[in-house]
Amino acid sequence: KKLGVALVGLGSYSTYQLAPALVQTEHCYLAGIVTGTKEKEAAWANKYNIPKKNIYNYENFDAIANNDDIDIVYVVLPNSMHADFSIRAAKAGKHVICEKPMAVSVEECDAIMAACKKADVKLSVGYRMQSDPYTQEVKKYVREKTFGDVHFVSSDAAYISRGNPDQWRLNKKLSGGGALLNMGVYAIQTSIYGVGENPTSVSAQEFSTRPEYFKDTDETITAQFTFNNGAVAHMMTSHNANGNRLKVHCSNGWFELDPAHNYGPINGRTSKGNTISFPHQSQQALQMDDFARHILLGAKNVAPGEMGKRDMIIAEAIYASITNGGKTQPLNLGTMGIVG
Ligand code: NAD
Repeated sequence: KKLGVALVGLGSYSTYQLAPALVQTEHCYLAGIVTGTKEKEAAWANKYNIPKKNIYNYENFDAIANNDDIDIVYVVLPNSMHADFSIRAAKAGKHVICEKPMAVSVEECDAIMAACKKADVKLSVGYRMQSDPYTQEVKKYVREKTFGDVHFVSSDAAYISRGNPDQWRLNKKLSGGGALLNMGVYAIQTSIYGVGENPTSVSAQEFSTRPEYFKDTDETITAQFTFNNGAVAHMMTSHNANGNRLKVHCSNGWFELDPAHNYGPINGRTSKGNTISFPHQSQQALQMDDFARHILLGAKNVAPGEMGKRDMIIAEAIYASITNGGKTQPLNLGTMGIVG
């Protein structure tokens, strides 16, 4: 059986990445849509052969509970709406994929996880990189010490934001935060799987290089992490610089991905003169099939809710450090959200 997915929010990520990926997936398909824009209904219905009964708006969404065609609800809305729709999806008895960042606070992450637990549905965060073969390769190098012990990890996740300065990503009420919550979560993730464990502390700095445009949200943030195994990591995230890179410096060499976390193709090379290269596949198709296999076959959940919550704990600690003049914030994460 192929599981039916309903996309909630038909913006650019749903339109250009998720819906096309759902044509390629083996274990799930696009069965329904939830949109606040009436005009999108017919176009999507025609393009993806979606029956009228599987089309919802934000008001009648809860009736999805009675629709057996829909197994998974995928929330692809502005960040401040993730918790509300994920919780409503769980209450409707549907498995949930919630886009990154999981929510706009740790408290909201807890509420989503509690709702999914109560409804006995599965929950995953839209961390497409966790399903990408390059990420598996990085994890393998770190685990097997291919280049020795990891000493230092550097990651950048940034782009130059242009266009309407009032877009939701730059509006704190809708986004919950700027570059850090949008792109920074990738650098938080690479810092963690680049070292192979969760950080024990973080200190952070915020910079503003285009204040007239970024009035409401963080533009550029750097942060440094310490780890129990002695490694350190440095990350940069920005809405006013380009950067898409992971470099892992080890006792016997290094390896890097550049670009590291775009939709692909990704590129890697190592100090041994090798390239790291895998055939390009849709990360979104791999991600949704991974989640479907988790539901159907009990395969591991590669991006569980607790991973999204962990990253939100770290993001809140980064903001707290900035508020406190760069003061080091201890992190008590244990193995939370680590998936081998
Ligand atoms: P978008 O602006 O293109 O689309 C947002 C959608 O939400 C639109 O359909 C819009 O109509 C709808 N919406 C409902 N209420 C709204 C409101 N009050 N204000 C603005 N829009 C509203 O955004 P997007 O790029 O599709 O991002 C959506 C989510 O997906 C975000 O959480 C983002 O972080 C995530 N995302 C993830 C990836 C990834 O690689 N995993 C990539 C892009 C976006």
